[in-house]
Amino acid sequence: MQGPIEQFSAILGKQYVLIEDQDKAPYLTDWRKRFTGKALAVLLPKSTEEVASIVKLCSANNIGIVPQGGHTGFCGGATPDNSGKQVILNLKRMNQIYEIDSANQTITLEAGCILQAVQEKAAAQDFLFPLSLGAEGSCMIGGNLATNAGGTNVLRYGNTRDLCLGLEVVTAQGEIWNGMKGLRKDNTGYDLRDLFIGSEGTLGIITAAVMKLYPLPSSQWTTLVATDNIASTIALLNLFQKRATALLTGFEMMTQESLALNEKHFPQMANPLKGNPPYTVLIELSDHESEEHVRKLLERILEEAFEAKLISDAVIASNLSQANAFWHMREHITLAQAEEGANLKHDITIPLSFLDRFIRETDALMRQQFPGIRIINFGHLGDGNLHYNIAPPLGSDPKAFNLAHEKAIHDLVYGQVERCQGSISAEHGVGQLKLDDLRAHKGEVAHELMKTLKRALDPQNILNPRKVVSI
Ligand SMILES: Cc1cc2nc3c(=O)[nH]c(=O)nc-3n(C[C@H](O)[C@H](O)[C@H](O)COP(=O)(O)OP(=O)(O)OC[C@H]3O[C@@H](n4cnc5c(N)ncnc54)[C@H](O)[C@@H]3O)c2cc1C
Repeated sequence: MQGPIEQFSAILGKQYVLIEDQDKAPYLTDWRKRFTGKALAVLLPKSTEEVASIVKLCSANNIGIVPQGGHTGFCGGATPDNSGKQVILNLKRMNQIYEIDSANQTITLEAGCILQAVQEKAAAQDFLFPLSLGAEGSCMIGGNLATNAGGTNVLRYGNTRDLCLGLEVVTAQGEIWNGMKGLRKDNTGYDLRDLFIGSEGTLGIITAAVMKLYPLPSSQWTTLVATDNIASTIALLNLFQKRATALLTGFEMMTQESLALNEKHFPQMANPLKGNPPYTVLIELSDHESEEHVRKLLERILEEAFEAKLISDAVIASNLSQANAFWHMREHITLAQAEEGANLKHDITIPLSFLDRFIRETDALMRQQFPGIRIINFGHLGDGNLHYNIAPPLGSDPKAFNLAHEKAIHDLVYGQVERCQGSISAEHGVGQLKLDDLRAHKGEVAHELMKTLKRALDPQNILNPRKVVSI
């Protein structure tokens, strides 16, 4: 009788079943280096049929499966536990783009496609695939769908969920559900697609998808503006929403402290706005008419914003490379934090009407209770999404500080989130990081419903056990 490793090898071929420590190592630690697990093996399937066979085999042997894409998630969802009994199912070899359907404006592809490759393929045929985030060079569509990733274009195009029309999923029983119709309307009962999106590999393994495409804008204009406080920043957002409507495709907020950290680690990323103001906002307009049309519109809105004293300074990117530099500055904050060392992340959403109160109150409480801490607050402000991150006081040992204060800091932030009717996870998901926080935040009824779904779809609890919900 063959053991599971021999049986995996019989399905995938021996070279795609990694069992040596040095071969498994690159798959065992998450991007933030916060979680490291052990694995029986790392499995690299090439087709949906292979995934289905692996799941059947795992089910027969009661082996936990941790689906994995680019392993860039921030909540440890794709990292196995420490038992050494789970397998990692990494989908990177399933990276075929099947077709672009120009009439239907869709792209059909496998889950292991790297996001940037999808954007490039779409652009080559004059289409925009709008999902865009800092990890796009390594994260994969399957991971994006499983976490319902957000990113910088949500304001105009929605989350990954809004971009998905069809899915193919391998169930916990190893069945293949083919839901690959590229339909914009389909009211045939329960929405299975939406059930799997955002389920972080706990309900099924996403193997392929049909995603929406949009016409590529003919012109984009990017500007950085200075604001003094959150109230003016939100008023500015509302002004842009009113005047630019659907042309507004980006509205990102960065605080003085975030950009100072950026400049410390990446001096070439210095804020071009004079004196690094309290808030720097990156605004992007995208247009299908003409350069002149969008530039004039942008200038008019900025003029109005100056007159209303919502902004005190502005720099408009004069060419594509300057626009890219503005975006790089925004995207490098996450990397600057990683360079600085261990930090505490809070990926939260707050209704825009509560945001001013949230920031004023939380900043004050935080500085009072944890003197010297640095609040690295930035995010997709247009979506009410803050990355309200805390770096330890300068000169302190980050690991020791986090160990001593992590729970108290999380409790403070999440308590404030509750009071302001927000969410403790905007776009990064739950994974293992927020497993315990979720129960308190979701409420008993919602949490029980989630467990009922998990038990119904994965009664053996083999798909990503102890992530999102524990049954
Ligand atoms: C620099 C940087 C910037 C980032 N910016 C953003 C941002 O702006 N917005 C945002 O939302 N996120 C952001 N992220 C987080 C991360 O990139 C996203 O969560 C991304 O969607 C994860 O994709 P992945 O392929 O790396 O998934 P992984 O990390 O491999 O997996 C994430 C989760 O999905 C599950 N999973 C993966 N593939 C599958 C599959 N095929 N089927 C079922 N389950 C699966 C895993 O088990 C895990 O639970 C950023 C990360 C970095 C490092």
